[in-house]
Amino acid sequence: MSGNATSEPPAKAPAPAAGRSGPHDVIIGAGLSGMYQLYRLRELGLSVRVFEAGNGVGGTWYWNRYPGARFDSESWTYGYSFSDELLREWEWSEHFTAQPETLRYCNFVADKLDLRREIEFKSRIRAAAYDEAANQWEIEIEDGRQARARFLITAIGPLSAPTMPSIPGVESFRGESYHTGTWPHRPVSFADKRVAVIGTGATGVQAITEIAKTVGHLTVFQRTPNWCAPLHNSAIDAATQAHLKATYPEICAICRDSFGCFIHQADPRNALEAMQPLAGLLRDITGSPAALLFFAAATMVLTVVALGAFRWIERRRSTSPRPSPTRCRWCTTGII
Ligand SMILES: Cc1cc2nc3c(=O)[nH]c(=O)nc-3n(C[C@H](O)[C@H](O)[C@H](O)COP(=O)(O)OP(=O)(O)OC[C@H]3O[C@@H](n4cnc5c(N)ncnc54)[C@H](O)[C@@H]3O)c2cc1C
Repeated sequence: MSGNATSEPPAKAPAPAAGRSGPHDVIIGAGLSGMYQLYRLRELGLSVRVFEAGNGVGGTWYWNRYPGARFDSESWTYGYSFSDELLREWEWSEHFTAQPETLRYCNFVADKLDLRREIEFKSRIRAAAYDEAANQWEIEIEDGRQARARFLITAIGPLSAPTMPSIPGVESFRGESYHTGTWPHRPVSFADKRVAVIGTGATGVQAITEIAKTVGHLTVFQRTPNWCAPLHNSAIDAATQAHLKATYPEICAICRDSFGCFIHQADPRNALEAMQPLAGLLRDITGSPAALLFFAAATMVLTVVALGAFRWIERRRSTSPRPSPTRCRWCTTGII
C-alpha cells in the first residue's frame, strides 16, 4: 500500500520510563532493527521502552531525506519477512523506491504493530553503565532523565552518526550547508544557486544527479572515484506485484542465504579464478595460427557491431530521460 500516509507522532511521547521507574528492558533506536526488537521482546512478554533520538520511527529513512535518497537494493527484498500480513498488505510502487515511500512503510509497520506506545521520541541516550551490584543497566537520557534496565539492546544503526568533513576554516563558511544524514524536513531549493557537493559515494551519486536537475552551477569534489552503474529503476506493474507476492517465500529464502540478505548471490571465485576459462581460450588461440586469424577477424567484426550498437543506444539515451545511476553502499539489512 504505497499510498498510505501515516502521520508522525506528537513532538514528544509520554515518558513513563523516565525518572527512576523500571526496570524495563531498553532498546536504543527505533529504526528497522529497533522496531523489530520491540515487537519481538513484547511478544516474549517483556516490558520494553525504546529511546529514539529522532521524532519518528524509521532510523535511516527518517534522517536521510536528501534529494534523490532511495533504495539501492530492491524494495521488495527490504520489508520485514516475519509477518505474512505485512508482506501481503504493503505494496512497493517501484523496484527501488524513494525515501518518502520507505519512511511511509516504517510508519505503516509501527501503526500496524502498535509500536509507538513504547517508544520515547526525541530521547537521545547519553550514557549507559552496568551496575554490577544491582545487575541492571543505569541509563542516562540527554535531557537528564534516567532509566534502569535488565537488558539493554543497542539498535543504533551502522550508518546513523553523521560525519562532518574536517576542512580547516569550514566554520567560516557563511552560505547554506546541509549534511545528507540530517537533512531538513522542509524542501530545500537549489534552483539557480552555486552548489558544491563533497563526496561521490552512494549518497553523493544519488544527491548529485537530483540536485543537478535544478541547480545554477554544480561543483563536485571527489577524493576517490567509485564504481557506478545505472539503477534501471521502474514502476512495479500489477502483474509483477502479483508475482512478487506469490513468490515471497522464495525471495525471502534467497535473501536469507545470501551475503548481506540481498537477492543477488555473490560469485565466490576470486578475479583470477574467474579469468581461468578466458586464459585457457587465449592459450588455445595463440597456439594455432588459423585460430588466431579467426579470433582476430571475429574480434574486428564484433567491435564494429558493438560500436554501432553503442552509438545507437547513446542516440536513444540523449532523447529519453536518463535513469539515475547508483552505487551500492555498505548495506546491512536486506530482509529482517
Ligand atoms: C542513505 C542510506 C540508504 C540505504 N539504503 C539501503 C538499501 O537500499 N538497502 C539496504 O539493505 N540497506 C540500506 N541502507 C542501510 C540501512 O542503514 C539499513 O538498511 C537499516 O535501515 C538499518 O536499520 P537500523 O535500525 O539497524 O539502523 P538505523 O536505521 O540507522 O536506526 C538507528 C536509530 O538509532 C537512533 N539512535 C542512534 N543513537 C542513538 C542514541 N544514542 N540514543 C537514541 N537513539 C539513537 C537513530 O536516531 C536511528 O533512528 C542504507 C543506509 C543509508 C544511510
